[in-house]
Amino acid sequence: MNDTGDNTWGHLASTSQFGSLVDANNHQYIEKDDIRSEKYKKYSHASHCMLYAKNDSKVFDIYKCRATILMHLRFDGLIGFPGGLVDDGEDFVHAVNRELREEIKLDTVKYPIQEEHHMVSHVHESTKLCLHFFAREIELKDLCSIEKTCLSAPDYGEEVLGTFRVPLYTMGDGLRGFPAFLSNSFVGNARDQLLHSLKILGIMTAAELSAAVTASKEVLKNKK
Ligand code: MG
Repeated sequence: MNDTGDNTWGHLASTSQFGSLVDANNHQYIEKDDIRSEKYKKYSHASHCMLYAKNDSKVFDIYKCRATILMHLRFDGLIGFPGGLVDDGEDFVHAVNRELREEIKLDTVKYPIQEEHHMVSHVHESTKLCLHFFAREIELKDLCSIEKTCLSAPDYGEEVLGTFRVPLYTMGDGLRGFPAFLSNSFVGNARDQLLHSLKILGIMTAAELSAAVTASKEVLKNKK
């Protein structure tokens, strides 16, 4: 036990620049062929993954569920996907599997995250951090089992404070549901990774996403 108080970084200081809320929106797309290029070998890397199941059920018999998607509340108070920093010498695909074992106790023999699940990569130049994002579809009943297992993951309770489902519907006032969810604070580009995946995977249309993003700004205005 040290007596430095709550306002220090302690041994987390070496990673304090990552996930900063300053300059958080400045991520540039990287072509897949460039991910393992010489330039980015000198950068830090992180890999995260969205586990999802398409879900045709209705929430409260009213709203289309569309999909069950797992995200979590992190130690830093931000919302993110399971995943984390790639270790020195480790490949980013290997890293996402390791992180998912640590953070949500995913059985990566049964549900390996592979190159084919890679969705998109971005770079944050000011911190020299490459962010790789994967999405893996899992049958709904299996995803429900994974959700329960999360509680016994090694990192649960410290790095991960709780796994939850993303509400993908917009309620009658046009603000609650997905727009309100989008008005939370997300780590890195997790919010954009979510929006991008919803579009590419055909879970929401570009028009639906754009309406939700616009409504989320309205939610933020009301918070002031
Ligand atoms: Mg981690």
